[in-house]
Amino acid sequence: MAIRLKLYNTETRALEEVASQNGREILMYTCGPTVYNFAHIGNFRTYVFEDILRRAIQFFGMKVKQVMNLTDVDDKTIQGALSRGVSLEEYTRPYINAFFEDLHTLGIEPAEFYPAATDYIPDMIQIIEQLLKKGVAYVGSDRSVYFSIDAFPSYGRLSHLPICHLKAGASERVSADEYDKEHISDFVLWKSYDPERDGEIYWESPFGKGRPGWHIECSAMAMKILGESIDIHVGGVDNMFPHHENEIAQSEAYSGKHFVRHWLHAEHLLVDHKKMSKSLGNFYTLRDLLQKGYTGKQVRYALLQGHYRMQLNFTFAGLEAAVSSLQRVADFIDRLYRIEEKNSFGLVEPIIQKTMGGFQEALADDLNIAVALSFVFEAVREINSLCDLGKLSQKEAEQVIEMLRQMDKVLHVFPLEPIDAIPQELEEALQKRQEARREKNWALADEYRDYILSRGYKIEDLPSGARLKKK
Ligand SMILES: [Zn+2]
Repeated sequence: MAIRLKLYNTETRALEEVASQNGREILMYTCGPTVYNFAHIGNFRTYVFEDILRRAIQFFGMKVKQVMNLTDVDDKTIQGALSRGVSLEEYTRPYINAFFEDLHTLGIEPAEFYPAATDYIPDMIQIIEQLLKKGVAYVGSDRSVYFSIDAFPSYGRLSHLPICHLKAGASERVSADEYDKEHISDFVLWKSYDPERDGEIYWESPFGKGRPGWHIECSAMAMKILGESIDIHVGGVDNMFPHHENEIAQSEAYSGKHFVRHWLHAEHLLVDHKKMSKSLGNFYTLRDLLQKGYTGKQVRYALLQGHYRMQLNFTFAGLEAAVSSLQRVADFIDRLYRIEEKNSFGLVEPIIQKTMGGFQEALADDLNIAVALSFVFEAVREINSLCDLGKLSQKEAEQVIEMLRQMDKVLHVFPLEPIDAIPQELEEALQKRQEARREKNWALADEYRDYILSRGYKIEDLPSGARLKKK
């Protein structure tokens, strides 16, 4: 029976099989960056995890339609634009560009949609109008529009908050985009314009000038692009409350439909066992690590290790270990490319079976990457031993490379091409040497041979023809 992908659902607190409700594709919404700065490696832990999830869904034979939003209007982007004296667009554009560059560096497969919040403001306004009409939202004395959490009885069900306890003594409502569990209260849908706070940044709406709250942005973009009921919603664990809780309340109060079938949350990244912060000096963007000489794949590999529901502790020692692990695989792949043709021994087939089976099962078990990787390295060890004994044929080596290629559809870290493909000019010199030999021009043939030898390669004359090999 085919292995099926099961993932932990934050809301039900159970492992559940992932399936598409529309029978065509998995509709997946991933909360994207607030583009007020360069994303840090903690953010990228979540984005790399989401990429592994996306690739795993495809690995198990399903299609994905993924949306990742760009939050280009919120408290932080407005503040940033005003302090620099530029428009919101001018302020966010370089960070949006940098974000896409970073995704590319980390080998993150592009989502189908990257909507910017500022392109969906009419949709947000329309939802807010409906919520007002339905009586689940109200205009506060500050002329902002708030969602009334009393009007949504299951509020708190995602983060399993004991809602009645928390509400007692809490402030009446909160207009900040981000707040903690101590401030559980009615949250803002539309922030009325305040010239001192917002400069010239506002939109017109039936409720007056202002701009959307952060939470409504994701609801609007998710429902507009994917529909009112989606399969998977993912984000960092810090988005669970209040952001995702509020997304559920707004979306379901608006549509009357179940908003998200499956919620996934990636845990925090720590650096040297501490929360990353600029004051502790343990704050890193991807760019900081590239400047230190690490590659995107090395950082990706360091970030994808460990289970996504566990905190991951990033250290430079760990990053160095990631570099060595990848080098081990690179050397192994290089060795596989150099295996000579001979009869097959039949010893590698069971290893491939066991490895692929273990890898798939680990992935299917809530993306247990640590176990999946242990199968990879066990196979490297076992197959290296076969190579030591000369018991691997070229055909079998190709099967091993194909196995790694399959696994790399999810991991996307292995250097699958030969490390040093033979330089073109040496291949040409070999051709000319063969021609010279056919013409019995031995002196010229020897000249080409000497040139090849001087470049660190030797010529193997096989019945099937000549080929080059590194000395
Ligand atoms: Zn979001």
